[in-house]
Amino acid sequence: MLESLTCNSCGAPMQVPESARFIKCNHCDAQLAVRRERDVTFTEAVDKLTETTQSLSEQVSRLTANQEIADLDRRWEMQRNEFMITGKNGRTHLPTEGTAMVGGIVAVVFGGFWTVMAFAITSRSPFGMAKIFPLFGLVFIAVGIFSAIHASSKASEYKQAKRRYEAERTRLKRK
Ligand SMILES: [Zn+2]
Repeated sequence: MLESLTCNSCGAPMQVPESARFIKCNHCDAQLAVRRERDVTFTEAVDKLTETTQSLSEQVSRLTANQEIADLDRRWEMQRNEFMITGKNGRTHLPTEGTAMVGGIVAVVFGGFWTVMAFAITSRSPFGMAKIFPLFGLVFIAVGIFSAIHASSKASEYKQAKRRYEAERTRLKRK
């Protein structure tokens, strides 16, 4: 059995075997797909099908990109938590250069004060052991400076990680 159809591209009439799914128009050479809906059969140029497929694949890649952004956000959330510092009041905060600096200054001032006072008190002491007390202040200063440096490098690590995350997110958004 042959079906009478018209070319979707040029309008030429054509006879199509009932089982055909794809056909080439003898008149304009268009590649046609034979679409059989419930009560109508028609031809459709294959270019259009390709367009549909393309927009579908665009949609899929957009979905994939959204999924990747969600994954990235989740990973960043975990990474960010690793940078969190628990303060004395039990609240968490992110490391900043400012807090590191303030911590260092406090340690140096307090340690310096301790050293001077301890030295003044113990310098005339008859006990040799007392000479050790001013040293505590120096140790305190050293520890304070060390932790300030450590905190400030943590702060810059965090800043870099954040910049990487934001750059990656922008890249995925643009996809
Ligand atoms: Zn045609």
